[in-house]
Amino acid sequence: MSFEKLNLIQPILKALKNEGYTTPTPIQEQAIPLVLAKKDLLAVAQTGTGKTAAFAIPIIQLLCEDRNIAPGKREIRSLILTPTRELAIQIGESFENYGRNTPLRYKVIFGGVNQFSQVEALKFGLDVLIATPGRLLDLMNQRFVDLNHIKFFVLDEADRMLDMGFVNDVKKVIAKLPSKRQSLFFSATMPPAIVELSNTILNNPSKVEVTPASTTVEIINQVVYHIDKENKKHLLVDILKDQKIERALVFTRTKHGANKVAEGLSKLGIRSEAIHGNKSQNARQNALNNFKSKQTRVLVATDIAARGIDIDELTHVINYELPNVPESYVHRIGRTGRAGASGIAIAFCDAEEKEYLRDIQKLIGKQIPLVENHPYPLMNHTVLKALPKPQRPQRSFGAKSSFQKSDNRNAEFPKKATGQNHSSYRGR
Ligand code: AMP
Repeated sequence: MSFEKLNLIQPILKALKNEGYTTPTPIQEQAIPLVLAKKDLLAVAQTGTGKTAAFAIPIIQLLCEDRNIAPGKREIRSLILTPTRELAIQIGESFENYGRNTPLRYKVIFGGVNQFSQVEALKFGLDVLIATPGRLLDLMNQRFVDLNHIKFFVLDEADRMLDMGFVNDVKKVIAKLPSKRQSLFFSATMPPAIVELSNTILNNPSKVEVTPASTTVEIINQVVYHIDKENKKHLLVDILKDQKIERALVFTRTKHGANKVAEGLSKLGIRSEAIHGNKSQNARQNALNNFKSKQTRVLVATDIAARGIDIDELTHVINYELPNVPESYVHRIGRTGRAGASGIAIAFCDAEEKEYLRDIQKLIGKQIPLVENHPYPLMNHTVLKALPKPQRPQRSFGAKSSFQKSDNRNAEFPKKATGQNHSSYRGR
């Protein structure tokens, strides 16, 4: 399947060529024709699947083909709501990239920064508004935003909106949208509250569901170290001695943990920064920019802060602490191996985290190879305290986790540890 087969207009095809995209991803292949056919869409897909292009490309096309607007007139005809500033910026970049050969104008608005340039852009006129809910409501209340001309509405990362407590804001925005519109709803998971929300937004939607994790997980080289908690910092430093690791994204469960790891590394001369919810949006964006431009070698992140981080050529993801939600592991390691590139995901697992590891392996449908001969073998097998377990998110359609679909065919149970040694994987 090629993009040409999707009946896309030349300016978009040219832009995609410029991006180096040759083949649509599964979500793009399924969603683009449905959106072009003016259907409402319920898409279960997460970051890393190419979902942004799956909605941005057909919206750009439909906006270009919209004959009901006077040439040169600007009205906000499309609204994209997304939970975080980082995601908003990335979506804005996608619209810029895919729409570069069209006359459409885009603006990204989010909180935590002065509203001046956002208000100027709104006054100047634009076709697509990409926004986080809080700042959008704020500007709506100040009467800077007119949503009366919205024809295409996208709710991105709906489950994350719920997690972050934005659902009421989202509902307030939706109440102001024209009822005659096309709506696209994207969520990585479908717990009941999200199904309910989707029912209030969508009109007879087509459903698509993709399983990034199965493909992603397969191309990522994963290993796990069993190690005592207090030795994790030493192992991390050892691993980072390999200068072939140009950049690594390290995950912790807590904000405090992220700060501690970043400070520890910085003291040893390893350029690191932490990114988490307690940092200001500017500090987060700066840390991300430094990491992207390779000024920082190690970015230590919590799950929420890392959501949507999209960095080309990120080779290593290190799970310093395993997540208590197994899906988060898949999200985390999906930061590497983007769009078909290979990546390395290293996990540190202490005695208390073994249960998390079991859940993760169950979800991905395979055993993560164990690094057996390393300098810090797990000595303390006692589980002092049970770590918290979250409520499992439920999925609506398809009883089983979609992550397992294709992995089950290639299930590696019962697979013995590979005996991979400490140094053999490094820098690959
Ligand atoms: P997303 O899931 O929207 O966050 O996209 C994940 C990454 O895949 C981004 O870096 C996109 O630039 C890239 N991408 C999206 N679609 C394609 C495609 N068809 N071919 C190659 N890369 C893509």
